[in-house]
Amino acid sequence: MNVLVLNAGSSSLKFQIIATDLEHIQQDKDERICKGEIEREGGEAIITFQAKDNPKQKFTATLRDISAALDYLVRYIASDQSGVTEIRSTADIQAVGHRVVHGGERFKESALIDDNVLQGIEDCIDLAPLHNPNNLKGIRAARELFGKDTPQVAVFDTSFHHSIPEEAYLYAIPYHLYRRYRIRRYGFHGTSHRYVAFRYRAMRGLTREQTNIITLHLGNGCSAAAIKGGDSIDTSMGLTPLEGLVMGTRSGDLDPAIVGLVACKEGMSPSEVETLLNTQSGLLGISGLTNDMRELLAELKDHDDRRVRLAVDIFCYRARKYIGSYLAAMGGADAIVFTGGIGENSPEIRARICESLEWAGLTIDARNNQQMVGRGGLISTEDSKLLAYAIPTDEELLIARDTVRVILGKPHPS
Ligand code: ADP
Repeated sequence: MNVLVLNAGSSSLKFQIIATDLEHIQQDKDERICKGEIEREGGEAIITFQAKDNPKQKFTATLRDISAALDYLVRYIASDQSGVTEIRSTADIQAVGHRVVHGGERFKESALIDDNVLQGIEDCIDLAPLHNPNNLKGIRAARELFGKDTPQVAVFDTSFHHSIPEEAYLYAIPYHLYRRYRIRRYGFHGTSHRYVAFRYRAMRGLTREQTNIITLHLGNGCSAAAIKGGDSIDTSMGLTPLEGLVMGTRSGDLDPAIVGLVACKEGMSPSEVETLLNTQSGLLGISGLTNDMRELLAELKDHDDRRVRLAVDIFCYRARKYIGSYLAAMGGADAIVFTGGIGENSPEIRARICESLEWAGLTIDARNNQQMVGRGGLISTEDSKLLAYAIPTDEELLIARDTVRVILGKPHPS
């Protein structure tokens, strides 16, 4: 089955086509046919495209909206220029899997999209006003292009965290605010946490029930999850992806009184302060330079700038603090798993986060750590009581696999 995986964001449409079915999933032999991104639709769009291992192509097109972008994309893939031989028309795409950011309390697992599910995703717009409307546009555009008979599946960022117990998901604010508005911790990056937990247990030959780990997804957005017996029992992102770890441009945890103070002093509205916390804070806000960890580390090497150093120090300290709190929440764990652009590629940040965790039984193996860049494996010593791994995430693959399993009515284990 050729599954088109779509991630429709506010300024970009990311896509992949993955050929898979139950047999391929079983054998771990899914095939990536092509992948890429269309950035800034609504004017001149920049398209990045790669068929299998061919060189990346980059070109521009005038695309008015997401429907036009999707239509253009499928035509391009079907053309001779793309280098894709498997797709000749829309009929060669048998299913579409969508990343949907917020599934609220309703979607505990991935769902086959019908009018009822569409309505459910719409009902979650209040909880994710920046994300769900774009995800919905992606779904509607795909319906238009492929027709109602091509099955589409929604895979939610929040679903994996449905197992979090009340004591961890409720905020200590008046309870009626939860009852009236469903204000609670939902957590995000669920597809990534779920995927690396699956890879971890496959690597170690463990069952789901034997999976007791802390996963750290460190990319532009960052989050931690406490996974006990295979279930997420706590996570650092909250009602929105703003809470928790320090991120590229997001503050993560802070005293809520800061919002009112900044609004008053700077003459801003609460929603303007929220935007500042989402887009001008984190690594960017502290360093005053960039949200890009690679650039910060390079700068640190060349100049040892005080604010750059602070940004990196605060980032690592917050991550370490979460590891400590989750070890307490879980009553100990077997391993820590790093993923995301930073977690997969930066031995330096992994080592800094793990330093002074020797009390918890974690010793990083410098050689293992250096070697594990862009590939999965152990980064601690083999005899560490608390092991550490770097495992590349692959949210698109999990979306494609869930799409197949949902369509065929097979269980899609978390
Ligand atoms: P997104 O959350 O948008 O998917 P990614 O997971 O790709 O983002 O992560 C982007 C982050 O990963 C950036 O801060 C980037 O600098 C960082 N990164 C990528 N490669 C490296 C590296 N080799 N060393 C340090 N940071 C890296």
